[in-house]
Amino acid sequence: MVAVLRPKPDLSQLNTAFPVSFRALKPLAVMVYGAPGSGKGTFGRLLSQLTGWPHISTGDLLRKHITADTELGQASIAILDGQYAPDRIANQLVSDRIQLADCHDSFILDGYPRTLPQCLAFLPMLQRWQIEPIVIRLQLDRQTVRSRLLARVTCSCCGTSFNLVSFPPSQAGRCDECGSQLATRTDDQAALIDKRIDFYDELTGPVEKYLLENAFRCRQMDASLEPKVILSEVLNDLVGDSLVTQSDSSVS
Ligand SMILES: [Zn+2]
Repeated sequence: MVAVLRPKPDLSQLNTAFPVSFRALKPLAVMVYGAPGSGKGTFGRLLSQLTGWPHISTGDLLRKHITADTELGQASIAILDGQYAPDRIANQLVSDRIQLADCHDSFILDGYPRTLPQCLAFLPMLQRWQIEPIVIRLQLDRQTVRSRLLARVTCSCCGTSFNLVSFPPSQAGRCDECGSQLATRTDDQAALIDKRIDFYDELTGPVEKYLLENAFRCRQMDASLEPKVILSEVLNDLVGDSLVTQSDSSVS
């Protein structure tokens, strides 16, 4: 294979605004993986702000269905006990969601496919619709995960997470997105953290392994870096093969 020099987008202003716009060359399903506390929610939201692609989390979808009292919401509420949606419901939620018009360019998945059966149901769907899966894996050692989760505060209203150490809200105790009060999640208490990481490894480890072994396009990132640094690196990697910046497309 001939090495191709990719044009580097100017991401230097990522700290203040998102001046660079991107367009996918073909529809992408960006699947973001990482243990609890790895920052995948934050990463997904930043990527969504920058690209305009919807950030889809099965937890958010489920909450919406329950609030709207849909059939799926009613079916889920009985089985929900703070755990994840079962495979059948998660598959249905995502399959319905990604057929909406705003997903036609590309979309970002946070926490799906979470299990191997979900993955084996989802990949043929992507193939049928000619959507390219891109896997981003945020890696973090367990000690860092522990200290991060202990410093995490979450908005009780919209679910956005902040970190008192690495990603503080602009106003103490208030959500940047909706202004509601921030609180420590009860499942972030030290005793439960190891359990959550183990649970993640057990449930989603096989999915990550499958995707890596089957040569899907995977990018492993050091999640201890600033979310915006991770984002720049991921975008630099995608530009050329999967993405063009608007300035690139206007000159070509
Ligand atoms: Zn909020």
